Amino acid sequence: MKVIAIPQLSDNYAYLIIDPATREAGIVDCAEVAPILEAVDREGATLTAILPTHHHFDHVGGNEELLAARPGLTVYGFDDRVPGLTDRVGHGDRVRVGSLEAEVLSIPAHTTGHIAYYFEREHAVFTGDTLFAGGCGRLFEGDAAMMIASLRKLRDLPDDTKVYFGHEYTVKNLDFALTLEPQNRVLRDKRAWAATTTGDGGYTTPTTIASEKDTNPFFRWQSPELRATLAAKFPDLPMEDVAVFAKTRQLKDNF
Ligand SMILES: [Zn+2]
Repeated sequence: MKVIAIPQLSDNYAYLIIDPATREAGIVDCAEVAPILEAVDREGATLTAILPTHHHFDHVGGNEELLAARPGLTVYGFDDRVPGLTDRVGHGDRVRVGSLEAEVLSIPAHTTGHIAYYFEREHAVFTGDTLFAGGCGRLFEGDAAMMIASLRKLRDLPDDTKVYFGHEYTVKNLDFALTLEPQNRVLRDKRAWAATTTGDGGYTTPTTIASEKDTNPFFRWQSPELRATLAAKFPDLPMEDVAVFAKTRQLKDNF
């Protein structure tokens, strides 16, 4: 499987997935059509499917234009808010791009219809606005308990799974993470790497499940250092998973 990150709008990523066996391709999220078609044509691929993670405009705003340019595409999606939806999918369903196969994971909370595409054989997952490098999505349509349940599904994937996320927020996310875990050496090193990488015009995508376990405060609600930081600032905060996660999310919302 070849994956090409295509920057969209100010800080979004779409991902072109190409099956080397058939040259068939799918696009995960689509806001701006021109750079996507340019990549498809440059690769000599045939686009067959759109794989939207959720219905927000910066992830599906280009669907109708792309369908007009390449009629007959399969458009997967969990809910009716996905423009051009042809194939409704739910948790555990399979989607195909050429000979590649992904399992759909239902990971609600940012939106109720948010899904991830997990390519089991290739150890790759596309997480949209649920899991970022060093962060998670805002809780627009769910609560902290729902987001924890969604993130657990991702955290349980193999450590070497590549995580392709929806926005280049990594440096700011890791700056926030450092306010909670200033002594986390892996986190400090990753922040330095991310700043250099993006400063040179590069991308921090993909990350891995292992790296997120080490650095992402929204995977680390059980971290002793994170809990100690919160306990010092908020003595009345109950030290249990959902309360710790909810406080972390609330602090990030105002960071
Ligand atoms: Zn979103």
